[in-house]
Amino acid sequence: MEQATAAVIEDFNEPLKMRSFPLTPLGDGEVRVRITHAGICGSDVHIWRGHDPRAPLPMIPGHEGIGYIDEMSGEKKDIFGRTLNPGDAVLWERGVMCGDCYYCTIRKQPALCPTRGTYGISYSCEEPPHFLGCYGTYLHLRARHPMIKLDLDVEPEVLVPATCSGATAAHAVETSGLQPGDFAMVVGPGPVGLFALAQLLHAGAGEVWIAGTHADRSRLEMALEFGAANAFDVDTMGGDEIRECIMDKTRGVGPNVILDCSGHAGVLPQWIDLTAPGGTYSIPGIATPQEEIPLEIFRTVARKNLRLQGVWVSDTSHLWSAAKLVANGAFPFEKLITHTFPLEEATEGLRVTESKESVKAILKIMD
Ligand SMILES: [Zn+2]
Ligand SMILES: [Zn+2]
Repeated sequence: MEQATAAVIEDFNEPLKMRSFPLTPLGDGEVRVRITHAGICGSDVHIWRGHDPRAPLPMIPGHEGIGYIDEMSGEKKDIFGRTLNPGDAVLWERGVMCGDCYYCTIRKQPALCPTRGTYGISYSCEEPPHFLGCYGTYLHLRARHPMIKLDLDVEPEVLVPATCSGATAAHAVETSGLQPGDFAMVVGPGPVGLFALAQLLHAGAGEVWIAGTHADRSRLEMALEFGAANAFDVDTMGGDEIRECIMDKTRGVGPNVILDCSGHAGVLPQWIDLTAPGGTYSIPGIATPQEEIPLEIFRTVARKNLRLQGVWVSDTSHLWSAAKLVANGAFPFEKLITHTFPLEEATEGLRVTESKESVKAILKIMD
């Protein structure tokens, strides 16, 4: 059998190893994608550091990617009913949902499917078909998996971050209760935060402010290019000054929507207090187990009619929403990708993601 390579996490915190595995025959309806680019997500760093309870070792990480169809078994159509053929550039849903359960059918929230897995997170590479993450030359997609033939007017690699960060941000904005003209805030200007900023503006927010730490300086500058009306560094402004500034701007009301994309539960008490009564505090950044947060529930939530909104991953509607947002050209998404590495340097990609040297790092696996 033909062999192909992938970057593998064999032990947490150790450099990824290049390994080869056989390309196993496709089952009926399955598709093998040739990966051209894979995104490095903050979640990949958590997996690599051993903080994600879903990840079995050894594994090929990578749940963000694009590529083209290498081989397929039987006929296959994309979500728009267009026939797919080998050589077609495609996007695909990163989550593997059953399509038949209560959450997939009745509640229409496939992100909550109890058997949901994710390519690049949930599967070991030890058993065939091995290639179940995007840090590899191929990805083996199961039968009946949602795919989108790429016909968007944008460089394909610019779409890579849309496949996770962008989709998650779209899910956060959809569930935020945002009304046209609302004042919104994003906390944490990483890829999810920058996508959230763009999605909020696209969805009709009147004004969006964004906050980050001193380490986020270059990301805050990028946020201004994406249309944030104000971007500030919480390490140089005190809590009182931040509150005064926001309350002054909103005539004492506070932000109607805060999307906390920081990934740190510890910042919640500071920001949730600023949320306007009747508003939403949403936490799309929380993707791994974290410490407990004390909340004065009467004053902070109950008395304010506040909506504390969880955002677990996304579904194919959010993927499509994010891809269209990137392709519509109103936001400089091409600037998001600050670092590109070959597959062999995946470990360096994880390192610059962890240190925030990059806004978004991607792996260029082939042309
Ligand atoms: Zn991700
Ligand atoms: Zn299901």
